[in-house]
Amino acid sequence: MTKGAIVCIDDEKSVLLCLRDQLSRILESGYTIELAESGEEALSLFAELNEEGIEVHLLICDQIMPGMSGVDVLMEIQQQYPHTLKILLTGLANFNDVIKALNYANLYRYIHKPWDEVDLGLTIREALRSYDQSKQLAAQNRQLQQMNLDLQREIADRRCAETRLAHDALHDALTQLPNRVLLTERIQQAIQASHQDPTYQFAVLFIDLDRFKVVNDGLGHLVGDKLLKAIAQRLQHCLRANDLIARFGGDEFSILLDNIQNQAEALQVAQRLLTALESPFHLGEHTLFASASIGIAVGSSDHENAADLLRDADLAMYSAKGRGRGCYALFSQELHLQSVKLLQIESDLHRALERQEFILYYQPIVSLETSTLIGFEALVRWQHATRGFIAPGDFIPIAEETGFIIPLGMWVLQKACLQLRAWNLAFPQQTALTMSVNLASKQLQDPRFIEQLDRVLAETGLDGSVLKLELTESMLLDNIESVLQTLASIKSRNIQLSIDDFGTGYSSLSYLPRFPINTLKIDRSFVDRMTVDAENLEIVRAIATLAHSIGIDVVAEGIETVQQLELLQTLHCEFGQGYLFSKPLDPHIAEQYIGKARKLNVSRKEMFNL
Ligand code: C2E
Ligand code: MG
Ligand code: MG
Repeated sequence: MTKGAIVCIDDEKSVLLCLRDQLSRILESGYTIELAESGEEALSLFAELNEEGIEVHLLICDQIMPGMSGVDVLMEIQQQYPHTLKILLTGLANFNDVIKALNYANLYRYIHKPWDEVDLGLTIREALRSYDQSKQLAAQNRQLQQMNLDLQREIADRRCAETRLAHDALHDALTQLPNRVLLTERIQQAIQASHQDPTYQFAVLFIDLDRFKVVNDGLGHLVGDKLLKAIAQRLQHCLRANDLIARFGGDEFSILLDNIQNQAEALQVAQRLLTALESPFHLGEHTLFASASIGIAVGSSDHENAADLLRDADLAMYSAKGRGRGCYALFSQELHLQSVKLLQIESDLHRALERQEFILYYQPIVSLETSTLIGFEALVRWQHATRGFIAPGDFIPIAEETGFIIPLGMWVLQKACLQLRAWNLAFPQQTALTMSVNLASKQLQDPRFIEQLDRVLAETGLDGSVLKLELTESMLLDNIESVLQTLASIKSRNIQLSIDDFGTGYSSLSYLPRFPINTLKIDRSFVDRMTVDAENLEIVRAIATLAHSIGIDVVAEGIETVQQLELLQTLHCEFGQGYLFSKPLDPHIAEQYIGKARKLNVSRKEMFNL
């Protein structure tokens, strides 16, 4: 393979031949020597060689020629083939030509005619070495440039990845809003600022969407996600540039209101956010409505860390939810104390069973037609070691939330069944007394419930037919298929089922015939108002009519006056329960009640005076 070419140009053939002779002696093998008699010929020679991929390392060119002069040729070659080294052969040492060639054609050397062969040899050798070196240098240079480019690209890629990672670590993937980490950091900075400048004020808002689960469950997560994004955008539009809104996951958002004038400003923003959510969201084929509950905690220099403020705002949010949906609440010390109390109750609850602090009270249920006692409802009470008596309304919801209702509910069931069995043995009568026991949703959903129910019946020797389990409307509609199965198992043990507080839950009555219900218990609130407003009377009438039409009987709860009783009788309510007959009684007094009721063979009037 050829290393490359040397091109000689001279209009005198003899010079060319002489050059070729000498060059072939001087050159290492591998070079081709090309001859041209004019500049024009040389240019086409260059083009041919170039086409064949042969590089011309060196050009030796005569200065004075017809046609293109040597300097012109060199300049042209410099233009087209800048790497070729150029030597000018001059007869007369024309200084101007040499300078021109140096300036415009990057002339390497010039050689006088006639030349000394040794001089020529040294010059050519040196020129070729220099050509090789500059070629190598150029290659290295290119390599370096490439490496540099690669490096820069890699640095840019890494920077990009780092920025993305840093962004991802601080933002929520769905809404692209900042996440909890970033917000917490910013709240911490705000706390610091308020320590330094007591006039600086800020607030933290905690937002929880109301009933968002319904959208997710009903329309699927895709629609749920779209709604979340749309809500995030709307909320963000209500804020100023220096406020920060973050998504806390699920349907929770939190906002830092930076540098506010006063507490009222935070409340105004909360109201603005609620108003912004009022208009419907149009998501493709769906038109959805959203509302939220907002808790507000105003920051102060007393605060030390962001977590405390978020906790306070969260607590206030729960309080807002408790007030009904779509409203806001401000954190207060009172709220804090309340939550501490709840926590205390929660931890005490677990010990209360072992310490035997629970007691069952029994409220008589009577037949409104014959005024006879037909049974009791078991109602649990907590005799707390230090707090004294605690009403079920104050601990049942906590027990339900924590799951403690499962062991507690079993205890109630066991105790009530045992008690009824004892009373039915002690007071044999034509129709045995019944015992109504309240069930919580978690109990009904507990897969071990039926097994435990069987164990209680077996251990207490009670016949299932005298036991009535009270459920609420919402329990029936949560997870319908599995509830239907559990209810069927309960019914197959001859146990009766009542719906408690009827009318306060889902007011759709159409679902009722699907469930194997024996009794509706009309909620106390209707009975309470039926004598004062006609609407409530009509509701009670409608419930009674509906129940009777599908073969279900009715218990009116909370009967306190004779007037109520008489109205209920005209509506053919079968049974009643309330202070008019008796408050819930401790077991001892309940037993006396049964005794007296039996002995007197009660008339209604006598019954009230027991
Ligand atoms: P509930 O099942 O609707 O029980 C009736 C409640 O109304 C009882 O309140 C009873 O004392 C009260 N009451 C009865 N008659 C009258 C009346 O004429 N006037 C007024 N003002 N009130 C009357 P209590 O015992 O405080 O129970 C409240 C709720 O706690 C119960 O409502 C029930 O939902 C729940 N609960 C009670 N014991 C248990 C239990 O063992 N397990 C479960 N899961 N819940 C229970
Ligand atoms: Mg009840
Ligand atoms: Mg009730």
